[in-house]
Amino acid sequence: MKAVVFERHGGPEVLRYTDIPEPKAGPTDVVIRVKAAGANYTDIWARRGLPGMSFIFPHVSGSDAAGVVVEVGSAVTGIKVGDEVVVHPSLSCRTCEMCTGGQEVLCREFKIWGFQTGPNDGGHAQYARLPAVNVVPKPRNLSFEEAASLPLVLMTAWRMLATRARVQPGDFVLIWGAAGGLGVMAIQICRLFGARPIAVVSSSEKERRVAELGAEFVINRSRQDVYEEVRRLTNRRGVDIVFEHVGQATFPTSVRCLRWGGTLVTCGATSGFEASTDLRHLWNRQLTFLGSHMATKAELLQALRWVEMGRIRPVLHTVLPLKEVPRGQEMMERNEVIGKIVYVPEGS
Ligand code: NDP
Repeated sequence: MKAVVFERHGGPEVLRYTDIPEPKAGPTDVVIRVKAAGANYTDIWARRGLPGMSFIFPHVSGSDAAGVVVEVGSAVTGIKVGDEVVVHPSLSCRTCEMCTGGQEVLCREFKIWGFQTGPNDGGHAQYARLPAVNVVPKPRNLSFEEAASLPLVLMTAWRMLATRARVQPGDFVLIWGAAGGLGVMAIQICRLFGARPIAVVSSSEKERRVAELGAEFVINRSRQDVYEEVRRLTNRRGVDIVFEHVGQATFPTSVRCLRWGGTLVTCGATSGFEASTDLRHLWNRQLTFLGSHMATKAELLQALRWVEMGRIRPVLHTVLPLKEVPRGQEMMERNEVIGKIVYVPEGS
């Protein structure tokens, strides 16, 4: 089958569109024919390589996919050939104290499918193998392309806001990268909860799109001072929640933008991991800093119900042929993408 593969870390030039063996289902697995696969920052982190993490080569990225089940392992029940599914990309042991307590994201064997798996085990391929527990029914109201754009960012933003920060009606929520994959989900989740999203973006086109998606206020960071705007919009009070994933470049501003007693929730650091904080803010203003990583299957299913009701909508920037993964990654690295890029394998 065709797949996008790399065997060493580097720039987009290390990605090769090539033939690899088709996966076979183990007893508890399913194999899906990938109809569409999402692009995520995990693909870029894996390709570049990360300090302290070893990747298994040949590596096939792709942590989101939607497709049709073509093979079912001998021990699998409840799923049959022909089912239309999307991937739940959180892999865990499912037997430990954390997993059985509904906290699979705290399992010591926790991994992101298509990021920490391999060899040849991601969604950027014509076929993909997964544990059967890691597929869920595709929302009926979505195309495969729309469905493939959702799970990872939808469930991560859901956990960050609903589970970790416990967003409340009326909360001001500052959303960095609001036109990005996570951001477009965060805006819509805030609206569901009756919160007041303040979207930060870097272009006029993005300003327009995030307003359409429900951002109550929009700050263009390329021509406005985010802290000053937040003070103005909140009448000098600050925001209840900051939705962080940019890291080093924005963290000090995020902390300053919080109201007294406010909550910062973060899942990432696109701009760098070494963020500094004046600790006096933390104790004097009694702030809460929360980490959040991926989400449980229950959280994904909860969030997908709102997708089925049409209350959370996928946001597709573009659909590219699978062989154009390098171009998609370059677009993400240049911050050009509004919502998500989706790749479609040949003949899908
Ligand atoms: P996208 O590329 O879709 O969006 C990122 C956005 O961040 C861009 O649109 C850009 O918006 C903004 N941004 C980038 N650099 C800066 C900067 N220096 N200052 C301010 N804003 C900046 O990525 P995703 O939304 O998919 O992911 C974002 C991050 O979250 C990644 O690092 C990813 O790895 C991480 N992540 C972590 C997860 C987890 O579970 N731990 C899950 C999902 C993602 P603009 O230029 O318009 O301001």
